[in-house]
Order: sequence, then structure tokens, then C-alpha cells
Amino acid sequence: MKYFIRTFGCQMNVYDSERMAEMLDRMGFERTPDPRQADLYVVNTCSVREKPRNRVVSASRHVRGVNPDAKILITGCVAQLEGQSLMEEAWADGVMGTEMYHVFPDVVQDVMKGRTVVATDTQDVSGYTFVKAAPRPQGIVRYVTIQKGCDNFCAYCVVPYARGPEVSREVSEIIEESQSLVQSGAREIWLLGQNVNSYRGGLTFPELLYEVAQIPGLERVRFTTSHPKDLSDELIDVMASTPGVCPWIHLPLQSGANHVLDLMGRGYTREHYLGLVAALRDAIPDISITTDVIVGFPGETEKDFLDTYSLVEEVGYEGMYSFKYSVRPGTRAETMPGHLPEHVKQDRLQRLQSMHESMLPDILERKYLGTVQKVLVEGPSVRNGEEARGRTPTAHVVNFSLPGRRTPEDLVGMVLDVEITEIRSHTLYGRLAGAESRAAG
Ligand code: SF4
Repeated sequence: MKYFIRTFGCQMNVYDSERMAEMLDRMGFERTPDPRQADLYVVNTCSVREKPRNRVVSASRHVRGVNPDAKILITGCVAQLEGQSLMEEAWADGVMGTEMYHVFPDVVQDVMKGRTVVATDTQDVSGYTFVKAAPRPQGIVRYVTIQKGCDNFCAYCVVPYARGPEVSREVSEIIEESQSLVQSGAREIWLLGQNVNSYRGGLTFPELLYEVAQIPGLERVRFTTSHPKDLSDELIDVMASTPGVCPWIHLPLQSGANHVLDLMGRGYTREHYLGLVAALRDAIPDISITTDVIVGFPGETEKDFLDTYSLVEEVGYEGMYSFKYSVRPGTRAETMPGHLPEHVKQDRLQRLQSMHESMLPDILERKYLGTVQKVLVEGPSVRNGEEARGRTPTAHVVNFSLPGRRTPEDLVGMVLDVEITEIRSHTLYGRLAGAESRAAG
């Protein structure tokens, strides 16, 4: 039996898909890169925006067309929210929600036997079970989940409905899982949660971060996502003073206008956010800050938008995900007054993105061009298999050429000094620096 998993959405979904793949491997399934060959096609869905939700339906229907015998199981946020109606719309055989991963093998067995499965119950959170990540050779960068769900209910966001209330995982489970991943070859761990700063599994998040960074053999640890309203001085201190904690933070802005932040229910102001950026940069001068922005939220005026625009310009993010606001059913923003016409949202998005696109090469060149970066090698470059690909501590991808007859596979897991020689469409390119070059050659 062969399986194929298609993943939409955030790192949390990537993490969940990895757990499902591991469970399928243990059940004796074999992974196939071709959905037409799959006996089981799993679509792991995202409902944060409208577009990926609709792509789920077309992906599922497409597979039904090209591989009519495959069993199709839809999992994740959209499955949780829409259940049976989604299954019917997408011509699938089963749906499984975000709180059911612990019974995934049973769901799969039922679906493979030809039963229709709708598994979208919400558990009593006190009994929530985190599915453990399995060690995997070649898994240099691994994700470890530290919490699930969210209690924040930002006005536009469907996550608290799709993933339920926040539950923090026990410290001991996180440390044990991280240790076992490191023992099996992981060099970098990403701690994942919708809002890591509100972690409450026995330690504060900064304490947990410090503990994970102490694991022998672990080169790097980073985390996402960090809600600005809960980012503490303690976290900044730990990031600044703990070797191995990467100088990178994803700090979602969403809007630079206090009026809109208030409508969104984000719990911070523009001034507070800028204060955090200043404190982070003061304590960690080489930190890279990335963000998420939503334009065209209901009630956003042109002046509000310009506040966002100027803040993005002022901070000089090293990466930005920006989106037009889209209505998510059941959220508070759905019924708010002042929804904006599509062309206004489109125009604002385009202006914001062009400004950021035009400043980014300069930001990256000033910071990285001609410098030597510590790059953790993850494998061959996506475009050119003879080059190696890795990441800087600040999370930028670097592709670099190799001396002699070395292949990228020889270097996986090594941290090498790479001189950055070029920057092309937000990707850094380079070559091994001096001594490293001779050692690797
Ligand atoms: S913090 Fe807000 S935006 Fe983030 S997942 Fe929770 S509700 Fe959604």
C-alpha cells in the first residue's frame, strides 16, 4: 500500500504531516512521490485564509479524477471546521480533525476498509495527547511541538476554532523528544506553538528554551510563533545570552495602526511593538526579524494602511508574509462593519509588497554580502544538485558551491563557514571560506 500526503499551511501542519507519515510507515505503508500511484491520499488542510481552503477541494477532486481507486482522507483545520460537508464537497472518503491525531491509525484502517469516517470530535483538553516525533536518519532540522491551540481569538483568525484551546506539552516530554531527535542526528530544533510565549508546561518559555539549548550535540534551537503581546524581557535575555539560540524571531505585526490593532484584538500598540524591536536589536545586534501583515482589515482607513506601510519601512524586515484580509466564517471580524472592496485591498497589498520587495535586496546586501556565515548544511540546493544548501543562524537559505569532488550529501549536518558572494531573489549564494574550503575539499 502506498501513500501520498499533501500539506497546506503553516509549520504546525508540516509537523502534523510528518507525524502522520511516521504512523503510516509503522503501519507498513510506503511513501510515493506520485499521487496517481497512491492507495491513500491524505490532504492536510489550512483554513487560515480562503484561498488554501478552496485549493484543498480542488486538490482532492483532482486526485479523485486521476486516481479513482485511491482512498482520500482530509485532515487538519478545514476538516475540523467543516467535517462531513467538506468530505462531500471534496469527493473524499473521510475527514479527520486537528485533535484526532492519536487515533489516526484507526481512522486510516477504517477508510482503507471502505468505511466513511468523520472524526472531528473535540477532546476534553485535559486528556489531550501529543503524538511523538520519530527519529529519522538525515533529519538535520526537526520540529518539536510545545503547545497546541490558541486562546487569543484575534478577530480575523480561525485557529482557536480549528485547533481548540491552548494546551502546553509537559517539559519532560519536550526534552525527551528533543534528546532522541538529536541522538538520531538532528542538529537544529524548531520549537513550535501558535504562541510560544504563553507556554505553561512546567517552566516559562524562556526557561524551556534555555533547557533545550543545553542538550548535548544540539547546534541550534529556534522557535515560532512569538506573539508580541507576550514577548518578555526574560525571553530577550535568554536569546541574547544562550549559545545555540538563533538570532532570528518571527514577530507578527498584522497592522501598524493602533486603531486596527485594537479592532483585531491583538493586545499591543504600534509603540509597544516598536519598543520590542528596539529591545531585541539592542540585546542581539545581528538579529533577523520577520513578520506577517494583513492589509484591508474591516475598518482600515488609508491612513491606517499608511501607518502599517511606514512601520514596515522603519523596521526593515528580513522577510515578510503579507496578505489581503479574507473573511473566515465564524470569526468576530466576519460581522464587523467596514469590509473593504477587493480592489482597495489588492491595491494596498501591492503597494506594501512592492515597497518591501524594493528594500529587501538592500537590507540583505548591507547585512550579508562579503560576510562569512556559519551555515548548517541541510542537503543539495533545490535548483542545482551539485551545490549545497543550508541556513544561516538568522534562518536565511544559502546555496554554495563545493570544492573538489565533495558532494552536498557528504556535508549534511556540518556547520561550515561560507562567504556570501551574491544575493538573488532573497536567497544568499556563496562559497566555502578559507580553511573550511581546504578541509572540505
Ligand atoms: S494569536 Fe491570534 S493570530 Fe495567532 S493563532 Fe491565536 S488567534 Fe490566531
